[in-house]
Amino acid sequence: MKTLVVGMEKSGRAALAFLRERGEQATPADLKLRDIEGFRLQSDELFDEAWDRIVLSPGVPADLPGLERARARGVEVIGEIELAAPFLQGRTIGITGSNGKTTTTSLVGHILQSAAVPVQVGGNIGTPVIAMAQTSRSEQWNVLELSSFQLETIRLFRAQVGVCLNVTQNHLDRHHTFENYAAAKGNLFRTQQAGDFAVLNGDDAVCRSFAELTPAKIVWFGGADLHEGQVWVGGEALMPLSEIPIPGRHNAENVLAAAAVARIAGVPLSAIASAVKTFKAVEHRLEFVAEIDGVRFYNDSKATSVDATIKALDSFEGGLWVILGGKDKGSDYTVLRDRLRRKAKGALLIGAAAGKIAGQLGDSTVVHDANTLDRAVEEAWRSARPGDTVLLAPACASFDQFESYEHRGRVFKELVNRIQHGADS
Ligand code: ADP
Repeated sequence: MKTLVVGMEKSGRAALAFLRERGEQATPADLKLRDIEGFRLQSDELFDEAWDRIVLSPGVPADLPGLERARARGVEVIGEIELAAPFLQGRTIGITGSNGKTTTTSLVGHILQSAAVPVQVGGNIGTPVIAMAQTSRSEQWNVLELSSFQLETIRLFRAQVGVCLNVTQNHLDRHHTFENYAAAKGNLFRTQQAGDFAVLNGDDAVCRSFAELTPAKIVWFGGADLHEGQVWVGGEALMPLSEIPIPGRHNAENVLAAAAVARIAGVPLSAIASAVKTFKAVEHRLEFVAEIDGVRFYNDSKATSVDATIKALDSFEGGLWVILGGKDKGSDYTVLRDRLRRKAKGALLIGAAAGKIAGQLGDSTVVHDANTLDRAVEEAWRSARPGDTVLLAPACASFDQFESYEHRGRVFKELVNRIQHGADS
């Protein structure tokens, strides 16, 4: 069996290592030159050679002309999770959606771990599924974050519990149409079997349509399960909304989905509730950093788009000092005006986009061009009163002043820590 592994980042490297450890003949390829034994530079012609199987990394478009030709010749063209499927022991929880995958996957992992249910967490976050196959055990749950790219090519891969959080316009550059994108996510439910579970957002039209694809039992969740200040799971009160440690209605919905999954895995409601209460936000996603003299600091450096910043603003009642800016992605910032007028006491602008943002925000809030993140944090801290919140939710990419959104978020947290130590001493 001759396998070509395309894309030499984390998942491709793991697939290559897996195949070679099994003594199979596997050839690595990438668009960029790599110093790996047997390496081939990726080209459309490379796919025409005599491969039995081609394994694609999530970053590689599955519809390249050479791949279509290979398929037509009968070559198996699959992703890393399909390669892993026959080797994955234990039951699998697959979590997909346009938004909230990482949070919900981490939340499910945290709840199961807290309830002493054997579990390993990975997929699109952390460990590639093919690497998890090697550590999987029959009595253990595999909790996997799955992107549409990974689901595009599955046939055997099966999740005993499939979750879809929401499906919105996303990645249309790769999937070309919304229908293709939705169909890729739908594969998660198409490959299920009778006796499996599909946990679906009843408020989302595309998620609802997945109910017709699957032989699994459907477990619905949605906004209707949040009322009277409580979170309801299967008609029973789980916990007060106010005790969810991650802010925002979207996170309450992530809790609903995670709680439904944990119920299926046999965790009692009381154990779910106490685990949710100790959940810490995933780093850089509306992550609580510190409270200093009554001023709370949140790091949402992952908010690299205007939409994500809107969600962040919606997660707070008011009293916000918002740090915005970075590298502009051609966004329209005027849509932030209304929310800033209602919720923000001021906006501190940083980076290359500051001028454009200032122009578009107009007089919706007090705007100050702080230029750098350290000055923005310092000015926000100086202006804030007890009860206020300083929120980094930049609506921009980070690459003008930072290596990545993670780097930007870490610098923010260091700056807050420095204020804290100054305030303590
Ligand atoms: P993903 O892994 O799908 O990118 P994350 O959990 O990292 O999702 O969250 C990324 C951003 O998506 C959050 O900062 C928030 O703005 C938004 N988000 C999270 N959960 C939801 C949800 N259930 N519905 C809508 N938006 C959400």
